[in-house]
Amino acid sequence: MGEKPWQLVRMVRDGQAEWGMVRGGAVVGLEAPPWAAEPVPGESLGELADLELVAPVAPSKIVCVGRNYAEHAREHDAEVPSEPLLFLKPPSSLLGPGRSIVLPWQSERVEHEAELALVIGRRCRGVPAGEAWACVLGVTCANDVTARDLQRRDKTWTRGKGFDTFCPVGPWVMVGVAEERVNDLAVSCRVNGKARQHDRTSAMVFPPSTIVAYVSSIMTLEPGDLILTGTPAGVGPLRSGDVVEVEVEGVGVLSNPVR
Ligand code: MG
Repeated sequence: MGEKPWQLVRMVRDGQAEWGMVRGGAVVGLEAPPWAAEPVPGESLGELADLELVAPVAPSKIVCVGRNYAEHAREHDAEVPSEPLLFLKPPSSLLGPGRSIVLPWQSERVEHEAELALVIGRRCRGVPAGEAWACVLGVTCANDVTARDLQRRDKTWTRGKGFDTFCPVGPWVMVGVAEERVNDLAVSCRVNGKARQHDRTSAMVFPPSTIVAYVSSIMTLEPGDLILTGTPAGVGPLRSGDVVEVEVEGVGVLSNPVR
């Protein structure tokens, strides 16, 4: 896959989802997602700026880690867990860059959670932490949108975390980023241009490799699966008309309007 990180995108053309690789502002097609086959750049699909991107992943499951930044656990008066605290979001919650997060009528308090997301590149089960990074294809930006009132009201988080549009991801997967680099990246959130969340991945309670190893000790991770690694302090409400941006250093900015 080459030495230098590259951007994997997914877009809809003529009603069909296609994979692509960004090259100097243009996108060239890929026959298959890079976890299925060695990427061979095909025909040019056009300028990146002109294409309508969708979420650059096709996961069998979205695994999320709760309370993985101590300061965020504190702002909710929650204990910092001694093991990763896992929950799932349904693949139906995925949303592409630029698409609208829809506020559900059942909730009066929907909040943003800016997160680094890992994309699995290789099937793994029971992988040790020291070998886990080899199973990760790349990283992207995600927003673990949460109906906070419903999360608090229910015993499980399925409803509060699982609405359609509650998992914006993208704008692309940065493929082939070194583990050392991913372990110290800035993660930020802005709403209408105002800073809401900011921290570094070095502040995670459980770093990415530990999370992959832990999850794989429970369930088989499939190529294309997505892992959200937890959110920094500063979560807050989203209102109709807002624009929420998640930025991960070295990846890009994921922007979504709210309605
Ligand atoms: Mg979260």
